[in-house]
Amino acid sequence: MASLIDKELLEKAVRLHGHLGPFLVLGLKMSLRAKEILGEKPEWCGVETVNCKPYLCVVDGIKTVIESDIVTVKEGEGLAAKYGGADGKEVVIRVKKALVKKYAEGPWEKCEEYAHDVIQSNDKQLFE
Ligand SMILES: [Zn+2]
Repeated sequence: MASLIDKELLEKAVRLHGHLGPFLVLGLKMSLRAKEILGEKPEWCGVETVNCKPYLCVVDGIKTVIESDIVTVKEGEGLAAKYGGADGKEVVIRVKKALVKKYAEGPWEKCEEYAHDVIQSNDKQLFE
């Protein structure tokens, strides 16, 4: 149940966003998981997170996978996203609190290292 990120998808996300970081990759992984559960590409996404960087880097990761601009952000704690499919099905993906805290509070120099941590983590390690 690992939502694997291929090189092409990662490069596309970095091109869109401008740099590689853990929240960008979390956005990719959350969206791939949602796609897997819904059985189709989500049509929209509502993110609940802290309304500042680096948390908001997640939005470009989400947009890369769902290929839609319908991504809304609501202020909240931690990091969670609700995805909707064409037939009204919805799914919520929530990232483990301790990881969100670690990646948000980590030093900027660790940004890429953390991103690779996320790439190598499986869904069970990342999500609640
Ligand atoms: Zn960023």
